[in-house]
Amino acid sequence: MKLNDAKVLGDSYLKGFKLDNWKIEFQNKYHILATCYHAPAQVIKLSKWYVNLNDRDEISETLLHEIAHALVGSGLGHGHTWIKKAKEIGVINPTTRRDSSIFNRPKPNYTGKCSCSNKFGRIKKRKSNGFCSNCFMPIVWTCTKSNKVINFNH
Ligand SMILES: [Zn+2]
Ligand SMILES: [Zn+2]
Repeated sequence: MKLNDAKVLGDSYLKGFKLDNWKIEFQNKYHILATCYHAPAQVIKLSKWYVNLNDRDEISETLLHEIAHALVGSGLGHGHTWIKKAKEIGVINPTTRRDSSIFNRPKPNYTGKCSCSNKFGRIKKRKSNGFCSNCFMPIVWTCTKSNKVINFNH
């Protein structure tokens, strides 16, 4: 979906739910699909890559998720009040974290493996190789372009 179309869709939801002083903006966060910033900011930010790589139904679901946060107010997280509101306004699957197998993600620049053959992906370089949360062994990284093993630890 184009960024501009996502903004038009988001604005129409804000209007429909009478969130008059709210705005739709975009952000460059790789690990977050969208964020709801409550007052005084009152803005819903969608991650650019997420909009660019996904279709209207997917973006709509996430917009409505954030709209539900905006409607119930801050500090309620994904508790029962939020879930009730989310269902009421048409969120199909009200959940804390969207299952990453459902939506499209950018291809990683680095892929990682560990002893238990868990798989990892990174877009950007980070300062350490990190450990697998399952087998606790260090992750071994390969650059997807050069096929060379990359050590982030120095
Ligand atoms: Zn949420
Ligand atoms: Zn592992």
